[in-house]
Amino acid sequence: MVGEDTRLWRQVAHEAARRPRQVDNHLDVRGVAVEVAHVPRLAAGLAARQTASLEWAMLPFRCCADITPASCARAKMPGGSSREMAMRKWLFAGFFATILSGPAAAWWDGGHMQIAAIAYDQLTPTARAKADALIRLNPQYASWVAGVPAGDAAQVAFVRASTWADDIKTPELGHTEAGDTPGNPEAGRNIGYYDNLMHKYWHFKDIGFSTDGTPVEDADPVNALTEIQALTQGLSPASGLPDDVRSYDLVWLLHLVGDAHQPLHATARFSHAQQHGDQGGNLAKVIPASGETIALHAYWDRLLGGYTTPAGAIRDALEDKNTKLPPADSALAGVSDPSVWFDESQRLAQNVAYADPVLSCTQACELDRAYETKARQTARAQAALAGARLAHLINEALK
Ligand SMILES: [Zn+2]
Repeated sequence: MVGEDTRLWRQVAHEAARRPRQVDNHLDVRGVAVEVAHVPRLAAGLAARQTASLEWAMLPFRCCADITPASCARAKMPGGSSREMAMRKWLFAGFFATILSGPAAAWWDGGHMQIAAIAYDQLTPTARAKADALIRLNPQYASWVAGVPAGDAAQVAFVRASTWADDIKTPELGHTEAGDTPGNPEAGRNIGYYDNLMHKYWHFKDIGFSTDGTPVEDADPVNALTEIQALTQGLSPASGLPDDVRSYDLVWLLHLVGDAHQPLHATARFSHAQQHGDQGGNLAKVIPASGETIALHAYWDRLLGGYTTPAGAIRDALEDKNTKLPPADSALAGVSDPSVWFDESQRLAQNVAYADPVLSCTQACELDRAYETKARQTARAQAALAGARLAHLINEALK
């Protein structure tokens, strides 16, 4: 059965690879989720890898129980899922969670949802109840919990909500990037779900560095740090904002706290060859042991797993002894100032992500075992930390 499914996934990936490539600029690839709209990028990786595992072959279909792009799109439309499809979706989720016995390979969906799963597990009963109520106000809520047993719905919705900030990068949710730049006066607005801007620049803060004396440019004026601060303020009842805005704030925070802990969402390397920066490693190429040539940024984004369902992420993060995340360092978990998070991530980027062999490469760098082991350990520790800090942030805001 697995063999047949693998063939089907490969066929879908092959079809996707024939589509025109989506815009592949800095903003597009930063924090981009595994979405149907981004299938070409993933499928290219699949083709390069040749020995695509089922997990890899499933990457493009985060939220879909069915196996074709068309049905995937249908399943994602609010109210567009029949009860039968919803049930299949849930059953499929359990199926995948069962067969994905190996460690999930990112701050692609797998990473964000694992971080949210950790956070949900550490919420106080009061904060959890308030968070549950706010999550229910997201326009996609019904589709997130369709077919999910009632007892699991709140946790599943919370975990699934962590990727909504990536979902809105696809046209089907009606958001736009027209005129949506970090210098726009509207860039940092907080108006809730009426806001149809994608705000792609909310996903990172480039704290630049250079090893060859190239001048470093400033980060965007509106960035992941300024937004985590603003949205945290908005989430508190003291803000006086209506609940639908506070829901929007919470859903964004579920995502951005995860991004803050991906080292390459906190920096860009400036050099003689790339005087305006390498876009958080998007312009640097690496060749991991799996053999494909990919952007350094994408390599890190996928370290915690690619495609998964909320059920799969919950299992990976909390339940499966082979994959569950390590406990966060308790002293570090208590650090609540997000500017410190970004400084830490920037240092990790310099010391780990851009360490040799990446540091001394000018073309695609072949990664060695020591680099890859350290990268994976760093990613897992950062995810655990992100989950604990996210829980702390919500517990404080919703006490
Ligand atoms: Zn992101």
